[in-house]
Amino acid sequence: MLPAVLLVLFGTALVFAVTQIGWLITLIFVVAVLLMAYQRLPLLAFTVTFTTLLVGYTWFGAAAGVWKGLLWLMLLALWLFNVRPLRKALVSRPFLKAYLRMLPTMSTTEREALEAGTVWWDGELFTGKPDWSKLLAARPAQLAPEEQAFLDGPCQVLCAMVDDFDVTHRRADLPPEAWDYIKREGFFAMIIPKQYGGLALGRYAQSSVLTRLASRSITLASTVAVPNSLGPAELLVHYGTDEQKNRYLPRLARGEEIPCFALTSPTVGSDAASISDTGIVCRGTYEGQDVLGLKLNFSKRYITLAPIATVVGLAFRLFDPDRLLGGEVDIGITCALLPRDTPGITIGRRHFPLNIPFQNGPIQGHDVFVPLDCIIGGTAMAGKGWRMLIEQLSVGRCISLPASATGGAVTAAWTTGAYARIRRQFGLPVGRFEGVEQVIARILGTTYIMDAARTVTTGAIDGGEKPAVPAAILKYHVTEMGRQVANDAMDVHGGKGIMLGPRNYLARGYQSAPIGITVEGANILTRSLIIFGQGAIRCHPFVLKEMEAARHADRRSGVDQFDRALFGHLGFAISNAVRSAVMALTFARFESAPGSGPEKRYYQHIERFSASFAFATDVAMLSLGGYLKKKESLSARLGDVLSYLYLASMVLKRHHDNGAPPEDLPVVEWACRSLLYRAQEQLHDFLRNFPNPLLAAFMRLVIFPRGRTYFAPSDRLGAQLAELAMTPSATRERLCRDAYRNPQGGNPLGLLEEALRMSIDVEPLERRLRVEGVKTGRVTALDFPGQVEQARSLGLLTDTQAQQLIDYDQRIMHLINVDDFDPQELKAAHG
Ligand SMILES: Cc1cc2nc3c(=O)[nH]c(=O)nc-3n(C[C@H](O)[C@H](O)[C@H](O)COP(=O)(O)OP(=O)(O)OC[C@H]3O[C@@H](n4cnc5c(N)ncnc54)[C@H](O)[C@@H]3O)c2cc1C
Repeated sequence: MLPAVLLVLFGTALVFAVTQIGWLITLIFVVAVLLMAYQRLPLLAFTVTFTTLLVGYTWFGAAAGVWKGLLWLMLLALWLFNVRPLRKALVSRPFLKAYLRMLPTMSTTEREALEAGTVWWDGELFTGKPDWSKLLAARPAQLAPEEQAFLDGPCQVLCAMVDDFDVTHRRADLPPEAWDYIKREGFFAMIIPKQYGGLALGRYAQSSVLTRLASRSITLASTVAVPNSLGPAELLVHYGTDEQKNRYLPRLARGEEIPCFALTSPTVGSDAASISDTGIVCRGTYEGQDVLGLKLNFSKRYITLAPIATVVGLAFRLFDPDRLLGGEVDIGITCALLPRDTPGITIGRRHFPLNIPFQNGPIQGHDVFVPLDCIIGGTAMAGKGWRMLIEQLSVGRCISLPASATGGAVTAAWTTGAYARIRRQFGLPVGRFEGVEQVIARILGTTYIMDAARTVTTGAIDGGEKPAVPAAILKYHVTEMGRQVANDAMDVHGGKGIMLGPRNYLARGYQSAPIGITVEGANILTRSLIIFGQGAIRCHPFVLKEMEAARHADRRSGVDQFDRALFGHLGFAISNAVRSAVMALTFARFESAPGSGPEKRYYQHIERFSASFAFATDVAMLSLGGYLKKKESLSARLGDVLSYLYLASMVLKRHHDNGAPPEDLPVVEWACRSLLYRAQEQLHDFLRNFPNPLLAAFMRLVIFPRGRTYFAPSDRLGAQLAELAMTPSATRERLCRDAYRNPQGGNPLGLLEEALRMSIDVEPLERRLRVEGVKTGRVTALDFPGQVEQARSLGLLTDTQAQQLIDYDQRIMHLINVDDFDPQELKAAHG
C-alpha cells in the first residue's frame, strides 16, 4: 500500500514539476532567500547570492513582471547599501538626525544603572539566536571543600539552635546563644576577604547558606543576609580606603561591629535616587578638634539591623555650598559610615515586619557632624554613591532574596510531598487526588525553576559575571514564585498550615513572602521598569551602540559607528522576523540545538521564542521610541518573555550540570513547558495591547502564523511530578539538598521524611488490613489500634507488622496534630 501511495505522490510531483516548472523555481527562489535571512548571511554575501538567484529566477521563474521589477529595485538598493559612503549619505546621516530627536533623555542615575554589571546569557536571548555552547560550557556552580564544611558544620549547628516559633512568637528576636554563634563563626563575614578575617565564601556558597538558614527560619536568614549584602562591608570591600578597610573589616568579620545600611526614607522609597536626606560640607568640632566634615540631617525607616547596629551606612545627597571641596555645589548621592553613638543620631526603636521579628527600625539624625573621612572611599568617592549602590546590587539581587525564597520553597516542596502522602482523607493519601496532585506538581516544578535560577546564576557570578539584568529577573520572579509555592503548600496542608505553633513549619514562610517582594526594589517596579527597561538597552546587540554613536562627540566617527550599528540592526531585525515565522511554522524542529530527546525540543523552542521576542522588541522600540518607557504594561510583558526564556535556560543548564539524570526529566519538562507556555501567553497579551493595530497584526503574522500552538504541561505530567514529590527519591534529595532536614530536635522536616520512608513499607499492610480485614467483615473494631490487634490475632498481620503499623500511626498523629495553648499563654505572648 505504502509504495503505491508514494509512487502516486512522486508521479503527481513530477507532473507538477514539469508542467509548473516556473512556480517551482519561484518557490525555490523564495525559500533560498528566506534561508539566507534565517542564517544571517553578511550583507555582501547576501547581495552576491541574491543577485545570482534573481538572475535565474527572472529567466525561469513564474509571477508577474511588476513583482520581478520590485525585486530588481531591491537588488539595486542592496548594492547601494554595500557602498558605505553612499549609504551613510543617503540613509544613516538623515536617519541619525531623526533618531536624535526621538532619543529619550537619560539622567546620570539612569546611565549609571544601565552601565552597571555585565551582559551574560540575557544578551544571548536578545540576539534571537542564542549560542548554547556559551551557556553549557560555563562553569557549573560548585562548593569548595571548606564551603561544604561550613554548610555541614556551623550552618547545621546554627539551624539546630533556632526554634522559629520561640523566635517569632515569644522572644521577637533570635536567642542570645544564636547571636553569639552567628558572630563567632563568621556568619556576618561571608563576603569579607580572608586577609581581614572574613570567610570569603563564593556567591553560590553564600546562596546555599542562606537557603539553608531560610529553610529553618526566615528571621535567621534575614538577619544573616543583611550584613552580607548591600551595606557597609560590601561597600568597604569594593570602594573603601585602606584605612577604612583596616579599621572596620576585621571588626565586622569578628562580629564586634553590627552594620546596617540606611537608604529608604518616609518620602523616598522606590524612587531611591531622589534621596531627600542631606549632608552639607562645613567645618565643625569632632572629638574636640576643629575639622572639615559633613553636617547630616536625615530620617530613615525600614532599616534592617538598625535597632542593634553599631555602625550605620548612610546614603544622602551631598552639597558643598561654600565649595570647600573645590568642585560642584550639588555633589550628588554619597555614602558614609557613622558610628552609632555619634551625637545627633536617634536609633533603637523597632518596626515589627509581619511577625518576622528580625531587627528592623527607623533612624533619624539631626545636625550630625562627622569628619570627611567617614565618606566611604574618602572624598574621591563623594557623589559616586548611586553608582556604588547600583554596581553592588547588580550582583546582590541574585543572592539574598532568591536564596531566602528558595529556602522557603524547598521546605514547602519537601514537607508537602511527605505530608500529602501520610495525610489520608476518603481512604486515600490526599496527594493522590487529581486536584491536589496538580498543586503538588506546581510546587515541585516551580521550586525546581527557583533553585536552578539561583544555582546557575550564582555559579556564573563565581565565574566572573556580574549579571545585572538576570539579577532583576531573579529578584522579581524567584520571590513571586516563592509566594506562589507558599500559597500552594498552605492549601495542601489545610488547617495544619494555619494553626500557629512549634509544629507549624509553613506559616511564617507564608507570612514573610511579601517582605522579599518589597525589598531591594519592589516587585511591580522591578517588573515594569527594570527588567526590560534595562535589558532592552543594555543587552540588545545594537541599541546601546546606536545610542552611544548618536551621542558621540566627534560627529564624523559618530556617523560612522551609527551607520555600522544601524545596518547591523536592520539585518538582525529582518533575520529575526524570518526566523520567528519559520520556526513558528515548523515548530522549530529543524533548528540545530544541543542534546537529544525531549531536552532538545526545549532548546529549540527557546530559540523560537527568542527570535520572536527579539523581533517584537525591535518593532516596539522603533515604533514607540521613548513612549515605551511610559507603557509599563507592555515593557513588563516583554520583560516577562525575556525572564521566562532566561529561567527555562537555567533549568536546562542545571539539568545538564547535574548529569541529566533521567528521573529528573519530568520536572525539567514541566518547568520548561510551563515557562515557555507563559512566554507565549505574554507575547500574545503584548500583541493584544499594542497601541498600533496594523503593526500588531503584522507582528502576529510573524510570531503566531499558526496561532498559539504551545501548550501548558499536561495533567499526566503533573501526576508524575506529584509521585516524585511523594516518594523518597533522588530528585527530592537533589532539589532539597540545602533544606535543613536533620530529624534531631524534633525538626518536622526530618520527621516527615522518616514518616514518608515508613509509609512505603506500611501502605501494603494498611491495604491488607482494609481489604482482607475490614471490607470482608473479619475485622470489626472501630478504632485503629483495635483493628490492628484483631488483624494480628486473625493472622492477617505478624507481630512485627502489627507493631510497625502502630508505630507508624503514632508518628503520623504526632505530625498531623497541631498546637493548642492555654489562653493565658497566648495573652501573655501578645501582652
Ligand atoms: C522588611 C523590610 C526591610 C527593609 N530593609 C531596608 C534596609 O535595610 N535599608 C533600606 O534602605 N531600606 C530597606 N527597606 C526599604 C525597601 O527597600 C523599600 O520598602 C522599597 O524600596 C519600596 O519602597 P516603599 O516601601 O516606600 O514603596 P513605594 O515606593 O511607596 O512603592 C509602592 C508600590 O508602588 C510601586 N511603584 C513605585 N514606583 C513605580 C513605578 N515607577 N512603576 C511601577 N511601580 C512602581 C512599587 O513597586 C510598590 O509596589 C526595607 C523594607 C522592608 C519592608
